[in-house]
Amino acid sequence: MPHEAISVFDMFKIGVGPSSSHTLGPWRAALRFIDTLNERNLTQQTFSITVLLYGSLAKTGKGHGTDIAVLMGLCGEDPVTVDVSSIAGKVQHIQSENKLKLNNEKWIDVEVEFMYDETLPFHPNGLSFLANCENDIQISETFYSIGGGFVVKEGEDKSKTSSIDLPFPINTSEDLLHWCMKTGLSINEVVMENENAWRNETETKTGLLTIWQTMKECMYRGCHSKGELPGGLHVRRRAFDLNKKLINQQSYNDYNSWKDAIKNGGNNFKYILDWVSCFALAINEENASFGRVVTAPTNGAAGVIPAVLQYFILFCDGDDEDKVIRFLLTASEVGSIFKKEATISAAMGGCQAEIGVSSSMAAAALTESLGGTQRQALMAAEIAMEHHLGMTCDPIGGLVQVPCIERNTMGAIKAITASQLALQSSPDYARVSLDKVIKTMWDTAKDMNFKYKETAEGGLALHIPLGLKEC
Ligand code: SF4
Repeated sequence: MPHEAISVFDMFKIGVGPSSSHTLGPWRAALRFIDTLNERNLTQQTFSITVLLYGSLAKTGKGHGTDIAVLMGLCGEDPVTVDVSSIAGKVQHIQSENKLKLNNEKWIDVEVEFMYDETLPFHPNGLSFLANCENDIQISETFYSIGGGFVVKEGEDKSKTSSIDLPFPINTSEDLLHWCMKTGLSINEVVMENENAWRNETETKTGLLTIWQTMKECMYRGCHSKGELPGGLHVRRRAFDLNKKLINQQSYNDYNSWKDAIKNGGNNFKYILDWVSCFALAINEENASFGRVVTAPTNGAAGVIPAVLQYFILFCDGDDEDKVIRFLLTASEVGSIFKKEATISAAMGGCQAEIGVSSSMAAAALTESLGGTQRQALMAAEIAMEHHLGMTCDPIGGLVQVPCIERNTMGAIKAITASQLALQSSPDYARVSLDKVIKTMWDTAKDMNFKYKETAEGGLALHIPLGLKEC
């Protein structure tokens, strides 16, 4: 069977909110289009670019900042390093002049068109770049943002992206379990062996700690930022008030002293529950504010895994860098299997493909981290997804705010419950395997009405018009 190699750094990518498929993916597509212009020595000859957004990218592109993302990409800005506080001013200037500095080299005219009634056949998230250059040269490329910040170019040879040979090729959870049983390795050890095919172990560990550092900074920033989220829905940020209430006047001045203050509060069930919600709210409020986040596996679901990892660190004695690394490795493998066997794109599968997958990833990682066997970890992943099956994507106003932000709190809590259920159970008696639930999720995705796949034309999006203070 052909094998798609997906690294932990494909699943966890540093970027800018609010959406991996509608912001990060289109941003990367714009950067790839610049690469094409550079390869053909056309950057200096280009005088105008038109960007066409199709399908879901048109329908929810405004709320998800797709136009902003492609403009920033065409400017040559890197989503990993761009100063996020500079984006609003820069984009305002571009939009008022209809001009930008292509790859920060040359001023050109630019236009972004939302093709509300057109969808390209390969994927609902399609976008095309058309460049007009001197000497009547025109060049165009079409890309698809297929979820989690992954981008494919029309006509691209897929085998080029999967050419690496992994010691333990994995498409399904059965494959993963096979390698674990055959080698006696844990899930995270199998994943690390595969990661060694890309880079040495030290680099992988350093990269994963950078991912965790970015998640922590996002969480801490979100807990200390108040006000209303942008976009016109008038959603009030809640992590700020919740953090203040829970911390109960203890003093702290940075992430580490904040962490100690949280631990000092004890381990009452409601206290822990509130904190898990607070961590998830904080990250997704930052995401909705065009802040720096990590796809996990997407931006809309970025809060679930960090919230569960933070729970593990603070309330389960997991405060150790190696444990963080192992947690992220295991989570990423489960996400990869979902991507290979189904989808992590809400435009293809609804919210079950985003929050459901992130919850499943977190459940497996937490279970293994708490001493569960490989089979219990996969059982936890199955339980978490089983109870997200059929969940639709219906973001009000096309913004990644309602129901998205709260959904992350639910995804995190379900992951913890799924983990506990698996730890207290024998996988011998489980009636549903992870592979079977992934197949069910994919079948459900295919049956789901298109209006529940990130179009903002169904569900809550239909009943709560943008601009009213109903939330
Ligand atoms: S409803 Fe779910 S899938 Fe849709 S944008 Fe919100 S978080 Fe993403």
